[in-house]
Amino acid sequence: MEERDIIIIGSGPAGLTAGIYSGRAGYRPLVIEGVPSGGQLLITTDVENFPGFADGIPGPELIGNMKKQAQRFGTEFLMKNVTHVDLKIYPFKVTAEDSEYLARSLIVATGAQARYLDLPSVETFKGRGVSACATCDGFFFRDRIVYVIGGGDTAAEEALCLTKFAKEVNIVHRRDMLRAEKYMQEKLLKNPKINIDWDSVLEEIKGSENGVVEKVVIKNVKTGELSERDADGVFMGIGYSPATSLFRGQIDLDENGYIICKEGAKTSVEGVFAAGDVRDPLFRQAIAAAGTGCKAAIEADRFLQGT
Ligand code: NAP
Repeated sequence: MEERDIIIIGSGPAGLTAGIYSGRAGYRPLVIEGVPSGGQLLITTDVENFPGFADGIPGPELIGNMKKQAQRFGTEFLMKNVTHVDLKIYPFKVTAEDSEYLARSLIVATGAQARYLDLPSVETFKGRGVSACATCDGFFFRDRIVYVIGGGDTAAEEALCLTKFAKEVNIVHRRDMLRAEKYMQEKLLKNPKINIDWDSVLEEIKGSENGVVEKVVIKNVKTGELSERDADGVFMGIGYSPATSLFRGQIDLDENGYIICKEGAKTSVEGVFAAGDVRDPLFRQAIAAAGTGCKAAIEADRFLQGT
């Protein structure tokens, strides 16, 4: 079984920054990318707040550049999913589908996944009108009516992206105030295609027998009033959950499943470090993920050097 000094799991800004730093420190790190690779930035149209890009940069381009930069320093990439980790033995054992490795240090940068509302009809229509990625699926809703659930930046981005395709975009938000950044709120409020259902929740999605979304039932939480509306698609924008199922019972997680880090990027297991959204319920920004990726790589280096 091949043994590596540093294995990095995940290829968003956290994993790739860890790859850049540990490659440049002279290791030959292996990034196990996950499928699809690249993390949430890969489905972000424009990143306008990553320092250094005065005019913004498309998410896929930013990720592509980071990967090239890591490769320039000898970082290697494996496009497979990690299916098992054993942190009870040392070196740690990492299984990625049919490949097995031993790792003298491990950087966990597995990110977070979109959350879906816990409704039976959401499950029924998932992938058939219910999505959590406007960049991926918006194209299918040209001149259609779509609904976006949530009031944060994710919901705002989904809604704005959908205005490029849909004829009508309705945001359903459970309160009377958006959580999204002010700048995003302004963009939403001045877009003529966007309507906001305040104090409202999605109660049910109804569809045809062949599984196509046709209606949504929206409930006003203040009045209790239900309204049934025509709809062709429903997009989830209610946030993310950390991708930590591989580590449950092996690394200390908080009550929401995020990896708990002590100082810097150290986890409860010596030699295992965590970076990016998988350990960050508060900020969840690409630049913050890159920052912790840098810390994790420096700490892995110190651990391997015994300093
Ligand atoms: P978020 O800020 O936690 O917002 C989630 C939204 O969904 C909130 O409005 C919340 O309502 C609503 N929600 C949650 N659970 C719900 C449920 N069960 N039913 C109905 N509504 C529900 O998550 P996010 O929008 O994914 O953003 C996470 C972080 O990433 C933030 O720091 C954000 O700034 C950042 N982000 C940045 C960008 C960007 O800069 N371009 C893009 C995306 C995300 P309440 O408001 O009532 O809690």
